[in-house]
Amino acid sequence: MLIDSHAHLDSPRYAEDREALLHRAWQAGVRTILSIGIGEGPDTMHQALDLSRQFKNHPEIPKIFASAGIHPHEAQLADEEAYTKLDQLLSEPEVIACGEIGLDYFYDHSPRNIQKTVFRRQMEIAASHKQPIIIHCRPSDNSTNAWDDTLDLLEEAWKPTGLGGILHCFTGEWHHARRALDAGFLISFAGNITFPKAQPIRDTAELVPLDSILVETDAPFLAPVPNRGKRNEPAFVREVAAKLAEIRQIDPEAVASRTTENFHRFFRTAPQPEKRSN
Ligand SMILES: [Zn+2]
Ligand SMILES: [Zn+2]
Repeated sequence: MLIDSHAHLDSPRYAEDREALLHRAWQAGVRTILSIGIGEGPDTMHQALDLSRQFKNHPEIPKIFASAGIHPHEAQLADEEAYTKLDQLLSEPEVIACGEIGLDYFYDHSPRNIQKTVFRRQMEIAASHKQPIIIHCRPSDNSTNAWDDTLDLLEEAWKPTGLGGILHCFTGEWHHARRALDAGFLISFAGNITFPKAQPIRDTAELVPLDSILVETDAPFLAPVPNRGKRNEPAFVREVAAKLAEIRQIDPEAVASRTTENFHRFFRTAPQPEKRSN
């Protein structure tokens, strides 16, 4: 049984076949998906929650939890209305995290000082709801600038809350992971762990303690080999788990069960029952 800890199920790219792909995920052994609620910007960050409700208790569809947050790309769209909306969403029972939030110095779609301000403000809102945070971090090419800033901010403003979080689609180095682990974070690996040039990510994946690892797709982005370049979907989280198993030289089943346990322990959610018992 697998958990996809990060998927954008509300992507318009799933408009035609969302239910079918959720069913494919079920058939691939995925029982839980965390649907990331950043929408296309603050106006649509409720969409992940809507999907969680729409597919509630559907047979042979994974359990869907939701998050809500303002992605660093859209930081400059964050206004008081957006913060109020985030505050409301974080009080809904299906919403179990604030994210993805953080810093992206690769695209710089929003100015860096605004990204930092919006990141901080969202940490405050998440803390007021006692919700963990999901971090997006991408530095400039050949730099660790966004990692350095993100980890500094987390240590200063987030670690004292003790609420922890997830570093999603981890691409940093081991010393970045180490700092995040010390601040109460889980490290989530995505499809890029399968890419031929991603040896540095695999090197880190070898070192992160097994009780601090999650797997994700970041669907519809970053499809793992052998579907690289195509639209990604939660069923493909199996390829991420298989690569992790190869790196750690353990059984794929062990990766599945450990990452599933980690998710439920961290979020205090209940595993999905396989069958109804009589
Ligand atoms: Zn991201
Ligand atoms: Zn994402």
